[in-house]
Amino acid sequence: MTYSQKSGSIKPSSTLALSARANALKAQGRAILNFTVGEPDFDTPRHIAEAGIKAINEGKTRYTTSSGTPKLREAICRKLLNDNGLAYRPEEIVVSNGAKQSLFNIFTAALNEGDEVLIPSPYWLSYPAMVKIAGGRPVFVQTRADNGFKAAAEQLEAALTPRTRAVVINTPSNPTGSVYSKQELERIAELAVKHDLLVVSDEIYEKLNFDADAPHISIASLGSEVFKQTAVVNGVSKSYAMTGWRIGYAACNAELAGIIDNIQSHCASNPNSIAQEAALAAISGPQACVDAMRAEFRRRRDYIYGRMSGMKGISVTRPRGAFYVFADVSEICARGGFEDAAAFSERLLEECGVAVVPAADFGMPGFVRFSFSLSLEEIRQGMDLLEYFIENNFQRGVQ
Ligand code: PLP
Repeated sequence: MTYSQKSGSIKPSSTLALSARANALKAQGRAILNFTVGEPDFDTPRHIAEAGIKAINEGKTRYTTSSGTPKLREAICRKLLNDNGLAYRPEEIVVSNGAKQSLFNIFTAALNEGDEVLIPSPYWLSYPAMVKIAGGRPVFVQTRADNGFKAAAEQLEAALTPRTRAVVINTPSNPTGSVYSKQELERIAELAVKHDLLVVSDEIYEKLNFDADAPHISIASLGSEVFKQTAVVNGVSKSYAMTGWRIGYAACNAELAGIIDNIQSHCASNPNSIAQEAALAAISGPQACVDAMRAEFRRRRDYIYGRMSGMKGISVTRPRGAFYVFADVSEICARGGFEDAAAFSERLLEECGVAVVPAADFGMPGFVRFSFSLSLEEIRQGMDLLEYFIENNFQRGVQ
C-alpha cells in the first residue's frame, strides 16, 4: 500500500527519539539525567487541578463551542489586554488542543500550495513540519550566535519572494532561549506590514522570561496594522505546568479566527471541556505559582549557564527565556573525534547517562540543546558529568 507524499516529507521528532533512548536505558536500571525534556518538571498547581476535578463533578463533560467556552475566551481577552496590551474580542480567540493545534490551524487556514513561510533558524522543529502538511514551503533564515540567534528584518527581507506569505516569530525561543527586543520587533513589524505578511507570533514561553532588560513583547502590540496581520499563539502548557491538559489558543482578526474555528470544528470539535475549566482557573486565578516557577527556572538558568560558559570546547549564549541552553559543541566534536553533535550526544548518553538533544533537526548542526527542566541538584550532577566527559575527550581527536 502507498501513503501520501506529504507524509513522507515529515521527519519524526529527534527530541522524542533521544528521550525514548534515555527512557530505555532508565528501564534497564541506568541512572539517567534527562536534559531533553520539553516541559516544566513541576506539577500543575493545586487550585488549577482542583478546577478540573470540580468540572468533572459538575458534569462539565460535554461538547463546548468549538472555539472554546465564552468564559474562557473572555478570560483570555482580559489576559491579552493586561499582560500584552492587546485588545481582542472573544470572537477573535480560538482555543485549541495545545498551542500546537493553534499553529497547525493557522498554517492550514493561511497557506495555499507552494506558499512560503519564513522561519528563523534554529527553530522549533514542528514549524517546518506543520507548514509542509499545510502545503506550504518552509524558508529558513539563518541566525547567528553573535546576534543572539535572532533574525534581523533585513535578513527576512532578503529571503522574500513573490510566494512569501508568512513569517514565524518565536519569542522567548525554543531552542535558543533568545528574546526579541522591542526595536527588533518593530523593524520586523514594519517589514510584515509593507509586504502584507501574516506574522505567526508563538509566545508560549512568555511567562518564562528572566531578565528585566529583556522583557517579553508581543509584536502584535506594536501598531494597529501589525495587530491586524498577526496571529498570536499562546497557551497554558509551559506557564502553568499544564502540558498534558492540552490547552492553547490563537488570537487574530475575526476573519482568520472564523476560518480557524471552521477547520477545528471539523477535525477536533472542541478542546477538552474539563481542561478548559482548568485553563480558566489558571488564567484568571492567582499568579503566584507562575512567579515561583519563573524564579526557580531563573535560578537554574543562572547556574547552568554559569557552569557551561566556563567549560572549554563548548560555547553557549545566555538564554533570556524558556528553559533551554543552546550550546555550540563543534570544537569539542573536532577535538574529541566525534563525527557530529549527534555522535557527541549519543556518547554522552551511553557513557555518562546525560541525555541532550542534538540540534541538526532544529536547523543547527554542531549544536546541542540542554533543557533545564530538572532539579538544581540533577543539573549540578549533569554538569559535573559533562565536564568530566569533555575533559576526557578534549585531546582525543587532535593529532
Ligand atoms: N511552541 C513552541 C516553541 C514549543 O516549544 C511548544 C512545545 O514544546 C509548543 C509551541 C506547543 O505547546 P503545546 O504543548 O501547548 O501544544
